[in-house]
Amino acid sequence: MTLHDRLADGLARLAALARQDDWRVGEAEGLTPTQGDILRTLIARPEGMRLTIMAAHLQVTQPTASDAVSALERKGLLEKLADPGDGRAVLLRATRSGRALAKRWPLSFGAVVGALSPIDQVALLGIVSRAIFKLQRQGAIPAQRMCLTCRYFAPNTHPGKARAHHCRFIDSSIGEGDLRIDCSDHAEAA
Ligand code: SF4
Repeated sequence: MTLHDRLADGLARLAALARQDDWRVGEAEGLTPTQGDILRTLIARPEGMRLTIMAAHLQVTQPTASDAVSALERKGLLEKLADPGDGRAVLLRATRSGRALAKRWPLSFGAVVGALSPIDQVALLGIVSRAIFKLQRQGAIPAQRMCLTCRYFAPNTHPGKARAHHCRFIDSSIGEGDLRIDCSDHAEAA
């Protein structure tokens, strides 16, 4: 097997473990992994999110997202509100119980990340950020609110320092371990 294939195989095993954990937790909470993903996405977006954007964000079809949203609504974990920006559109928002459940729902890859040393976690965050950036450029995954595509991000502004980058939004140096993949202050770079 080539390096490429061995690495892809290893990642597939970690992804299988993460999905297995999602199903196990979901069973205990009475939710599917997609329903859990929707709730987790919504707690990072208190302003709400449209169904079409949610489906694209989770990389599922619109009917799949719609079914999951209906189930969450029936359980009182999610509500639909009129979109102030478009009278015909609705926004999805987690209810108080939905937010509480999402906060105790462990991250899919929590066990994988927990098996790494802090140094490896920092290195992996940089690798993951760059992989997402490249795949986003190729159109393989939807736009993420990440540092590498943010207009406030100034890379390697402080060369040789542990916190080599700079975030102009908070006007502070940041290191590889501070890189964000879903930042609410993100603004797409031109
Ligand atoms: S605003 Fe957020 S996404 Fe943008 S550079 Fe700062 S931390 Fe990164």
